[in-house]
Amino acid sequence: MDYTGLVIRSTGSWYDVRDTDGHVYQARLPGKFKMKGMKVTNPIAVGDKVAFEVEDEAENTAVINDIAPRENYIIRQSVHKTAHGHILAANLDQAVLLATLTLPRTSLGFIDRFLVSAESFRIPTAVVFNKTDILNEEGLAFQQEIMDMYERIGYTCLATSATEGEGVDTFRQLLDHKVTLLSGHSGVGKSSLVNAISPNLNLRTNEVSTFANKGVHTTTFAEMFELAPNTFIIDTPGIKELGLIDTEREEISHYFPEMRDRLNECRFHNCLHINEPGCAIKDAVAEGDIAESRYMSYLSMMDGSDNRR
Ligand code: GDP
Ligand code: ZN
Repeated sequence: MDYTGLVIRSTGSWYDVRDTDGHVYQARLPGKFKMKGMKVTNPIAVGDKVAFEVEDEAENTAVINDIAPRENYIIRQSVHKTAHGHILAANLDQAVLLATLTLPRTSLGFIDRFLVSAESFRIPTAVVFNKTDILNEEGLAFQQEIMDMYERIGYTCLATSATEGEGVDTFRQLLDHKVTLLSGHSGVGKSSLVNAISPNLNLRTNEVSTFANKGVHTTTFAEMFELAPNTFIIDTPGIKELGLIDTEREEISHYFPEMRDRLNECRFHNCLHINEPGCAIKDAVAEGDIAESRYMSYLSMMDGSDNRR
C-alpha cells in the first residue's frame, strides 16, 4: 500500500487528506470500512497516513482505502472505562507543553500529569515556558529552577517570550520537520508563539482557544497546521489534558523517568512507594534526588481521582 495521504482535519464523517504535493482532498471512508480490533469511536484521526483514491478531480473528493499502522496515538478515554475511546491524533513526533508561571498559572501538578500521559503514549515531550518578559528577577530564578528540575529528568525545556521574540528561533528549531502536538492552557500564548515563527499562517490570537472554550462541540476534533514544509502542529481544541489509557496504579511510577530506574531497589517488588518500608523512591525524595513536587504529583495520581481524566 502507498500511504501517501496525510489526514490533516476530521469532522467525523469527512477527512481532509493532503497528498505529498500539498493538495487537499475531501475524503470519505467507504461504507464497508472496518477498523481492526480497536475499541474507538473514530476509525481515522488527524495524523493518520492513508492510502486513497481520487474520486472526482473537479470536486476534490477522494475515498480512503486503508490506514497505515500507527507509530503512536493519543486517545481520550470515555469516563466509563469499558466504553469506546476517541483517538485525538496519531503519529506524533513529539508533544510540546506550553506553560506560563503566571497569567495564567500553569501548576506543576498539571505539567506532571501531562508528562505522565505523554510517557504512557510514548510521546517525547518538551516543556516551553512562555511570557518570560513578565517575570521579575525572582520569577525568573524560580522558572530556571523548574526548568533545571525537568531537564535533569530528561525533558527538554525552553524559555520564550512570544511578544519580545526571546527563544522564538529555538522554538522554531524544536518544531522543525516534526509533527508536534501543541498543548497548554488557554491564554498561555500558543497562537502568539506559532504566529511568531510562521506569520503566513496567521492564526488568529485566541482563535484556537475560543473555539475550544465555548463548549459548543462535545466531540472535539484535532486539526493540523503546516507551519513550514513538513513542519506540522496539531492542536486539540478543548483537550486540556491527555488521558491515560488503561493504566493500573502499579504502572504510574514507570511513567516518571526518575522513578523508573530506581524501582527495583525497593525492598518489596510490589512497592507502591507510599508508606512501605525500604522504599528507594521515598529515600530518593528524602535525599533530594527526586523533586518533592514530582513525588507529590505521583501521590495525587495514585489517589485515583486523577487517573482517568
Ligand atoms: P493561546 O490561548 O494559548 O493561543 O494564547 P494567545 O496566543 O491567544 O495569547 C493570549 C494572550 O497572551 C494574548 O493577549 C497575547 O498577546 C498574550 N501573550 C502571548 N504570548 C505572550 C508573551 O510572551 N508575553 C506577554 N507579555 N504576553 C503574551
Ligand atoms: Zn518503593
